[in-house]
Amino acid sequence: MFSYRHAFHAGNHADVLKHMALLATLQHLTQKQAGLTVVDTHAGAGLYRLDGDYAGKSGEAMDGVLKLFSQLRPAGLNSTSKTSQTYAQSTHLATNGVAKQAGTPHDLAPALLAYMDLIAHFNPGGQLKVYPGSPFVIQHLLRMEARDRLKLFELHPTDSKTLAANIAQLQAGRQVAVARLDGFEGLKALLPPPNRRALVLIDPSYELKTDYGKVSACIQDSLKRFSTGTYAIWYPVIPRPEAHDLPRRLKTLATQAKKPWLHATLAIGADPAQGMDERPGLRASGFFLINPPHTLKAALAAALPQVLQALGRGAGKGYTLDAGG
Ligand code: SAM
Repeated sequence: MFSYRHAFHAGNHADVLKHMALLATLQHLTQKQAGLTVVDTHAGAGLYRLDGDYAGKSGEAMDGVLKLFSQLRPAGLNSTSKTSQTYAQSTHLATNGVAKQAGTPHDLAPALLAYMDLIAHFNPGGQLKVYPGSPFVIQHLLRMEARDRLKLFELHPTDSKTLAANIAQLQAGRQVAVARLDGFEGLKALLPPPNRRALVLIDPSYELKTDYGKVSACIQDSLKRFSTGTYAIWYPVIPRPEAHDLPRRLKTLATQAKKPWLHATLAIGADPAQGMDERPGLRASGFFLINPPHTLKAALAAALPQVLQALGRGAGKGYTLDAGG
């Protein structure tokens, strides 16, 4: 049950898709003055080292955020946030020299630029050593004055402790709460939120194939409790019937509830350097939103081709973007 550790995967292409879309969603939702409740049902550890043992062993960020920065990093990315100073100073990291300063003339799509800017905030030294997971991506956008709230669920005994310690460094007080509970169950008590505005991120590890069914059941239940919330679900695109069915089920649930949806996938394709006997790692993933911001489709339509150009490898690479409702 607890063999999955997100530290092995932090900053991979799936995180790039998920966190870029999450950030664009939050940028839109925090434009309205009214307070927002954000729930991250599967939060992970919050912050990851890109040069640590886990990330080093898997090398997944090399095909994700590290490659993105080495190919696209524009000059002048902002790296002066409150958070970046704190985390760079509190983590003692060796350098791996991965983030080449290309000083490029690329016209980056705003959603991609915002994502890269956020990552740069956490790495003020210029080299990518730290990767912010969803709790930190989200918290970065929350507003004290609007009384936005973030509720984080993480079940793993070690990762939930690490998450709590990482969040404590933010000194965010009541703005952020961490619970070592099942996120599918914990969410029920939070809907509808008192301020009637919510974004729910559902990002399980799918270590157990029952997670696929739990996601659809959770969305069905959540739409009954709070039909106007924005729901964002990440899933792996792998040859497994449950994974194939999940976006179809989500579409059906959104359509039955008469709610708009948006579905984005990103596939980096086969690794040309991979041997025939090696098991391929994750090559593609999807992000499905119900009640997405009306601006998100255009934002992703501009950003995804650029992400694909930077991260695409071989056969099977591509992206899709669909919307309905
Ligand atoms: N959302 C994180 C991010 O984007 O940075 C990554 C989360 S990772 C894909 C999934 C996490 O869910 C793992 O850390 C795992 O321990 C945790 N987990 C698994 N089952 C859970 C459950 N039922 N409730 C809460 N957390 C769970």
